[in-house]
Amino acid sequence: MSSKRKITVANGDGIGPEIMKATLAILDAAGAQLEYDVIEIGEKVYLKGISSGMEPKAIDSLRETKVFLKSPITTPQGGGFKSLNVTTRKSFGLYANVRPCKAYSPFIKTHFPKTDLVIIRENEEDLYAGIEHRQTQEVYQTLKLISQPGSEKIIRYAFEYAKKYGRKKVTCMTKDNIMKLADGLFHKTFDEIAKEYPDIQTDHKIIDIGTALIAERPEIFDVIVTLNLYGDIISDVAAQVTGSVGLGGSANVGEEVAMFEAIHGSAPDIAGMDMANPSGLLNGAIMMLVHIGQPEIAEKISNAWMKTLEDGIHTGDIYQEGLSAKKVGTHEFAQAVIERLGQLPVKMAPASFDKEDTKPMNVKLAGKPKAAKELTGVDVFIDWDEDGRDPNVIGEKLRQANANGLQLYLITNRGVKVFPEGLKETFCTDHWRCRFKTADGSAISHTDVLNLLGQIRDLGFDFIKTEHLYTFDGVRGYSLAQGE
Ligand code: NAD
Repeated sequence: MSSKRKITVANGDGIGPEIMKATLAILDAAGAQLEYDVIEIGEKVYLKGISSGMEPKAIDSLRETKVFLKSPITTPQGGGFKSLNVTTRKSFGLYANVRPCKAYSPFIKTHFPKTDLVIIRENEEDLYAGIEHRQTQEVYQTLKLISQPGSEKIIRYAFEYAKKYGRKKVTCMTKDNIMKLADGLFHKTFDEIAKEYPDIQTDHKIIDIGTALIAERPEIFDVIVTLNLYGDIISDVAAQVTGSVGLGGSANVGEEVAMFEAIHGSAPDIAGMDMANPSGLLNGAIMMLVHIGQPEIAEKISNAWMKTLEDGIHTGDIYQEGLSAKKVGTHEFAQAVIERLGQLPVKMAPASFDKEDTKPMNVKLAGKPKAAKELTGVDVFIDWDEDGRDPNVIGEKLRQANANGLQLYLITNRGVKVFPEGLKETFCTDHWRCRFKTADGSAISHTDVLNLLGQIRDLGFDFIKTEHLYTFDGVRGYSLAQGE
């Protein structure tokens, strides 16, 4: 029986095949004990009419090998194609996206030579649920879903990561000054879990100022944990400011399966030209080798790669007159790394991985007791485009509805209160959120909601969706309207 570890490999699109060839050549030359199950994913598969971009046999391969080394792919625009990356991350439960971002100064130019941060991005939730609806002529909706276990899992992962790799600080980034419930849950979960790690410093930054600080002072960050969309954006910012967009690798880690890739895309503008920097995928592959228990090979490759950078052998994206010694293509860069296998960098700190690094991290959910849930009202969303969109007209009509005391409380348009007593200056779309509650705040039943909807229909309105207003252990589980 072969002692080689079987992994799934996808060459991807654009520069994908070139950088994969270069990466595998380096892995093989370094003595990595690997066997490749090569699958096809991406553009060709999409164009066969498979909207996920992945054939069933590719899924079987991943189920078997549990490790995926993947080149970037091109997602065709429009036409209902789902992002293969998002589908893979979610279908296989790859909840943690780990993106180290380090400066390689002075060999690669950066204004921030001390940067050495790791972004740990939640990978399964948030706006990436891909649940979108057009509800009226004018209004489209994307659902942002944040769960307590999803938040707990990624935050625990971030703290365990910091502990394992001796990192000193974990910063949480959210926008909970606006999204008090969803982002608030993430921040609150962070504060709770932080108490279990007294040796690790913690702080929280609102994502906008957090992003600005990454662009201006990235060296103040160590580990950053954040929600899916923010993590997507800040990891590109962080990679760019350290001058290393073509260099960053990423790991997408789940309980069973893990996927390793470059952070960049398929770069169609330079595809097939032997110009691409294979370092991003190579760095992903180095993380993979640690993950599958071949840390000594990971270390050997990482050191040879750093020595190559130190020797000024640079691909076009990082080449700089006066700093670089030679501009090379993808193939020659890989050969230069291979020639340096066994050597250490002289100026940069050598990489060092050991068996401890290969141990899986212990992420166990503590969970939460169930709260008492009570239905106290309903938001009915209505598509209405009559009478000059006068909020007083829709408001007075809806005041006629009353289901066992469940009656109109207020109306908002795009979240701003417009009835009763709205401002005449507020711009109104054709999308109205009409909140119904009992006068004394007492509980209601589903039958009351159904009766109310029947009355709203009889009044001639097109209701497009409802959201129930619940309390949990008496605490309001919905936001107030702006101006309420
Ligand atoms: P991109 O990252 O492919 O390219 C952005 C710029 O960086 C281009 O100028 C490109 O030439 C350059 N670049 C990227 N990688 C490089 C490398 N290794 N060496 C040298 N230069 C490099 O981003 P994009 O142009 O926005 O996206 C192109 C395609 O990639 C799109 O279809 C997008 O959906 C897809 N994409 C895929 C992934 C993935 O598979 N993980 C990630 C991001 C984007």
